[in-house]
Amino acid sequence: ILARKLMPRIEVLFINTGLEFPETVEYVQKLCSDHKLRLHEIRGDSDFFEQAKIFGPPAKDYRWCCKTNKLGPMTSFLAGQYPRGCVTIEGRRVYESFNRSSIKAVERNPYVPGQTMLSPIRNWRALEVMLYIHWNGELPNPLYDEDYERIGCWLCPASMQSEFSRLKESHPNLYSRWNSFLHDWRQKNDLDERYVDWGFWRWRRHPPKITEMADSYGICLASWGGMKKEISLQAVRGRSPCGLEYSVEAVLTSPQNHPFSNVANALGMLGEAKYEEDMGAALLKTDKGRATVFANGHIMVIAGKEEAEELLQKVVEVILRVQMCTKCGICLKNCRRGAISLENTFIVDHERCNHCGKCAQGCIAIDEAKKILKGIGAG
Ligand code: SF4
Ligand code: SF4
Repeated sequence: ILARKLMPRIEVLFINTGLEFPETVEYVQKLCSDHKLRLHEIRGDSDFFEQAKIFGPPAKDYRWCCKTNKLGPMTSFLAGQYPRGCVTIEGRRVYESFNRSSIKAVERNPYVPGQTMLSPIRNWRALEVMLYIHWNGELPNPLYDEDYERIGCWLCPASMQSEFSRLKESHPNLYSRWNSFLHDWRQKNDLDERYVDWGFWRWRRHPPKITEMADSYGICLASWGGMKKEISLQAVRGRSPCGLEYSVEAVLTSPQNHPFSNVANALGMLGEAKYEEDMGAALLKTDKGRATVFANGHIMVIAGKEEAEELLQKVVEVILRVQMCTKCGICLKNCRRGAISLENTFIVDHERCNHCGKCAQGCIAIDEAKKILKGIGAG
């Protein structure tokens, strides 16, 4: 309403994460059609429930879904639709959450070169927003009348526990789909039933008050065991027996979501990589040293002492990135050379790649790989 007073022919961008309430989708579509506004409904092709099997449920401090279901699709849309840049006017407000308390009037989107974001109502209170809507003869999203305080994705971990109880009554099918996913996941991770029923799943690292409460009821909060159990790295180090070079021999156990040929291809972003299919191995040559990576998880690195550790870390990150790629597409936009494409996981065009490493920025799979490596004492 506000933006239209400035520019009558604005276009509306709605990122439909696939986890929106049906009422929200209907509300947005009706609003735009009533006002004859051009609506771009942006949808990604990432299947949230498939991704959640790999990453576990999102949490307040671990919102991988924002990248796969929101930022990724939006980045692709904006880059395709407005290649010369654009200005978006957003309704985010500083009172919404601690994270949003530092919103500026004008910001650049770090993931989308050329996007400038304006937040004209950042200092408004919720009441002021509601009054403004009614004052202009409009109606808000009907879910506000049903005691929802903030309306985003229906399973958002940032929602209050009371809102999940509300969801159970207002949208029993949505509630039971998520609830049964959470219980399957907690069973696989040997967690207490109350971990789900009392809402502990909504954090990855629990705040002190929540930890205290769990302790007082004897609830163990050690989670994410499944992922850690699935990934392990053992390494032995020392001088190479047949020379003076330092070598590291390691064995990585990791999820096998994609064939080894994808790993061999991705190693090419670290240097010159050659896939020896008969040997089931990829040979990698970089300016730091050499590595041989076998399909069975065996990795051999030969280089100077520090360089060997660094190269091992990079190789492991690439392997995990291939296996845990969410296909969010953020790396496609970060690679100015157009060297990445997406199939079942990301694919590198060796002719174009110059090993700059920029595609690693903002990649959820790399962030996750780093945390796991740190957790198992290898990062
Ligand atoms: S490799 Fe690319 S597409 Fe895959 S998760 Fe990382 S940024 Fe997203
Ligand atoms: S960003 Fe750099 S390292 Fe990544 S694919 Fe593109 S050229 Fe290669």
